[in-house]
Amino acid sequence: MLVTSKHLLAKARRKKYAIPAFNINNLEILKAVMSAGEKMKSPIIIQTSEGAIEYAGMDYLIAMIRVASKGKIPVVMHLDHGKDLKIIFQAIQSGYTSVMIDASAFDYKKNVTLTKKVIAKAHPRGVSVEAEIGALAGIEDLVSVEARDAKLTDPDDAKLFVKDTGCDSLAVAIGTSHGAFKFKGKTHLDIERLKEIAKRVSVPIVLHGASGVREDIKKIAEQHGAKLGKARGVLDTDISKVIQHGVAKINIDTDLRIAFTAGIREAIDDMPTIIDPRKLLEGPMLLMREVAMQKMKLFKSAGKA
Ligand SMILES: [Zn+2]
Repeated sequence: MLVTSKHLLAKARRKKYAIPAFNINNLEILKAVMSAGEKMKSPIIIQTSEGAIEYAGMDYLIAMIRVASKGKIPVVMHLDHGKDLKIIFQAIQSGYTSVMIDASAFDYKKNVTLTKKVIAKAHPRGVSVEAEIGALAGIEDLVSVEARDAKLTDPDDAKLFVKDTGCDSLAVAIGTSHGAFKFKGKTHLDIERLKEIAKRVSVPIVLHGASGVREDIKKIAEQHGAKLGKARGVLDTDISKVIQHGVAKINIDTDLRIAFTAGIREAIDDMPTIIDPRKLLEGPMLLMREVAMQKMKLFKSAGKA
């Protein structure tokens, strides 16, 4: 059933598990993660970025997610990284049950103003709002500790921001980044910083850029011609730690992309005579389903539906 994210995430934080938030942009990814959710009896957040909306069209995505949410498990329809107010308002009016306003690139004051604007439209319609403070991208390029600290979420700012805005959940920067190349050397999530944020902020905390970049799946892709170089993700042990300290929503996009790519490459290599897309997409869908199921076990959301 279609639900909002507010209570789902509050309960997850209280009980120390995290809801997986999967980015989808087509039918195959959606069916794969939904099938994982049904199998594992896990609540699930289906999220679409503005890029996904540009690719597939909001109406197509909404229609598909509505059908997907007719089963028994709780499903949240969430707008990921809303930056364009027009798109955010359209999502709120069209049936999304949760939206993110990402004004984290602006200064504190403008971030608060824009976030409040979205909340004013969302809350009367029962739509939950995720906001962000701190910056994820480019952290790796900042060598000095001072520069890195300036980008990561300041715990006191986080407290003030939640109070000033009234957001329902908060995305923070503690060292993760988007994409497949998260770390150059060893991984370094700032768990101490997260603990300080969790002490000050009672709303559920959201972790972006949290894919694991599984070696076994990367290998399948590379055996079939992909060149992924030093792609590296967040360690499973770090994911378990962040869930202990307030993180209740974990975004996964890259891991699904790698699984899709690995599966496609393998299918095309292994079945040179097949031209039926449905046959070629069977493998990628199974691989994405397996990745999603592993996340549900790791996040301890399995059995919580
Ligand atoms: Zn993100």
